[in-house]
Amino acid sequence: MAGTWDELIQDIKSRLDIVDVVSEQVVLKKRGNSYWGLCPFHKDKNPSFCVTPSMGIYKCFSCGEGGDAIKLIMKTKNMEFREVIEELAEKFGLEVPKTHKSDGSSRELKEQMLNATAIAAEIYHDLLLREKADNAQDALKYLSKRGIGSDIIKKFHLGVAPKGFSTLYDELRKDFSNDVLEKAGLILKSEKGGYIDRFRSRLIIPIRNENGQYVAFGARALESGQTPKYINSSDSLIYNKSKILYGLDTDLAEQH
Ligand SMILES: [Zn+2]
Repeated sequence: MAGTWDELIQDIKSRLDIVDVVSEQVVLKKRGNSYWGLCPFHKDKNPSFCVTPSMGIYKCFSCGEGGDAIKLIMKTKNMEFREVIEELAEKFGLEVPKTHKSDGSSRELKEQMLNATAIAAEIYHDLLLREKADNAQDALKYLSKRGIGSDIIKKFHLGVAPKGFSTLYDELRKDFSNDVLEKAGLILKSEKGGYIDRFRSRLIIPIRNENGQYVAFGARALESGQTPKYINSSDSLIYNKSKILYGLDTDLAEQH
């Protein structure tokens, strides 16, 4: 008996190993919790293509390409999302529900929002961990005052949003439409008519859903006098505040 299309996608995702999928095309070397290799999307001389199995995503820190295993297959084989799912369903011997065509657009939007959020989490984390952001030191100082060291930073994938207006947007616009990024709560319309990052000059605490997918962010001010002290992603297609249990983010959000 076939389940729903969402169940099929979940099932396929749980069977896909991002490292296996990437390894079909890229030689990967393990470094810490990640794997690195030469990017298949641009002429890469030093390995700048990073695969993070715990998050199920890849990201190139040179050309900005990023996504999950399904997106990699879509990009490299030039296939539509639905085609990839159908092909993988056949490979894994899973039944494809017949009713999947009606809600195709919202499902793809949801997938893209999840992808964008996971990559945003990776970018924010990298900016903090490798101290690439202008304010990484401020964030690390704040965390260390709260007794939070690199083990917790890595475990919760904490990150930092730099002071600039479009650090994240400049990265993500290469891969995602404004519509996806705005609906995922990552960017805002600026008064001048363009888009700017929603989170600026803030410590970033990614929020996961019950499947371990990154769906939202909590963001704490890093500058004195910056208001509000704590902001949180709004509810969206992928994030329902009332359904998510808070952990570290509430602790870091305290007003002192
Ligand atoms: Zn690249």
